[in-house]
Amino acid sequence: MDNKIIVIGGGVSGLTSALTLQLLGYETEIITDKVAANTTEKRSNPEFASLFPSASIIPHSVYSNRLRELFQRSQSIFYELRKLTFPGVTIHKHYEIFEEQTEQPDYCNWMLNLQPFDELDPEKVPRRPSVNGLCGWAFDCIFADWALYLPFLYELYQQSGGTITQQKLTPEDIANLPSETIINCAGTGSPELFEDPSDQQLVVRGHLLHKPNAPLITNKKDEIISYNFTPKASVYADEDGNACDVYCYPRKDGWILGGSRQEGKRGQTDWKESDESITHKIDGVAFPRQIIDLNKEILATTFDASLNSSNDLQPSVGYRYIRNRTNGLRLESETLDNNQVIHNYGHGGAGVTLSWGCALEIANKLSPKKIHELQGEVIEEIESTLNNN
Ligand SMILES: Cc1cc2nc3c(=O)[nH]c(=O)nc-3n(C[C@H](O)[C@H](O)[C@H](O)COP(=O)(O)OP(=O)(O)OC[C@H]3O[C@@H](n4cnc5c(N)ncnc54)[C@H](O)[C@@H]3O)c2cc1C
Repeated sequence: MDNKIIVIGGGVSGLTSALTLQLLGYETEIITDKVAANTTEKRSNPEFASLFPSASIIPHSVYSNRLRELFQRSQSIFYELRKLTFPGVTIHKHYEIFEEQTEQPDYCNWMLNLQPFDELDPEKVPRRPSVNGLCGWAFDCIFADWALYLPFLYELYQQSGGTITQQKLTPEDIANLPSETIINCAGTGSPELFEDPSDQQLVVRGHLLHKPNAPLITNKKDEIISYNFTPKASVYADEDGNACDVYCYPRKDGWILGGSRQEGKRGQTDWKESDESITHKIDGVAFPRQIIDLNKEILATTFDASLNSSNDLQPSVGYRYIRNRTNGLRLESETLDNNQVIHNYGHGGAGVTLSWGCALEIANKLSPKKIHELQGEVIEEIESTLNNN
């Protein structure tokens, strides 16, 4: 067997796939235009999705006919990493609350300690003043605290002997790569390197605000609280009139406040901005004013926490690459010029969420071992590296 594997892409998918294979004994090299852990300039890189995740481990805004198994595999690895005190892996009590009746999505059944609305402590349910008739649920949710998790993932990969070469590849380079096995994790760059069978190329743009140094929000049991809150459509809606959510995800480095889900196409640069009456502008970046206004109301009413639209809010705008809404995640193998190419892209708003599930699936395509055996080996290797650190 040719043991050398080339992974294209230095985002969370490339890094997790390469690390997994490296830990399983393969020699891997990541070739990438940009490396997430080294790129601080977000504004000129909205298509580099791994600069932006919030990062909840919930399968939001992603489409795959194998979602459940990929999610559950990933989630079980995150829970194991949590037990090993892997940097940045935390558990939150996460609320999803709505002002209009909403059906529970399937993924709620895959979450631990799901609590229906009527079992929640009303004092702790995120809400706006004088709005009644809420519905929703809460569950335990893994978060990957990005400022801690991503640099450690990168460090672990290098400690395990993986190498990273910084280079922007062209389609002509692909046939000459020195490996019979290529893992394509080039995100929105994928269709420029390989033929993509999807005729839709959906991208969903998201606005975020980082409030540095904001305190963790906790309950009486010292659990960290986070929420997604969807008001009535008359308060905050997308272009088609569907109600939109706002959210607050507390992390060690402050709060990540969202959000928006504006649909466009891969490569699009002429995004239509909402008119000035409904946007805030900070640092030249326009974003929906509801991200501040609604979060401010919810944080003050429920958690006695204050959010000022002050100058310490840092805005950013990134793209979630959804491809299509039937089976947008491309996780499949093909033969090109006698090489095996395994594609791993189109994770939408859930690339971190699915990162371990997809990486193990790739390992399983290359190895005769069963997937749970591979998972056990990866965790054992991570545990021994953490113990030796
Ligand atoms: C606002 C926002 C919030 C989000 N929140 C969450 C969340 O809470 N939870 C969650 O799970 N996910 C979330 N996501 C989604 C998540 O960020 C993405 O799904 C994930 O980062 C995709 O990672 P990736 O490695 O597949 O792609 P990318 O991060 O886009 O990486 C692609 C890589 O390929 C390289 N590349 C591209 N073309 C070439 C080329 N020609 N040659 C060499 N290299 C190339 C790039 O340089 C880059 O390194 C969010 C995304 C956004 C925008």
